[in-house]
Amino acid sequence: MKKYDEISKKEVYICNCCGQMIASVDECDRAAFLDVSKAWGYFSKWDGCIHRFQLCENCYGKMIQTWCYLPDEEEQTEWI
Ligand SMILES: [Zn+2]
Repeated sequence: MKKYDEISKKEVYICNCCGQMIASVDECDRAAFLDVSKAWGYFSKWDGCIHRFQLCENCYGKMIQTWCYLPDEEEQTEWI
């Protein structure tokens, strides 16, 4: 989630799972985290809603360990 940080006077990303600060929004390209924006469609449980959330690297790692199958993984040929 995005939140205004009174100390740094910047907008920051907070991990939706553990509440830790991930990075300031303007420097987030240097941070490792999961950034999700999902527009739910017709006939879904959240019809017409957009869900946005961020997870820190640790919480993402814990989350995928609860899945039946780990995400598909391949090596990046180009670094973004
Ligand atoms: Zn977290």
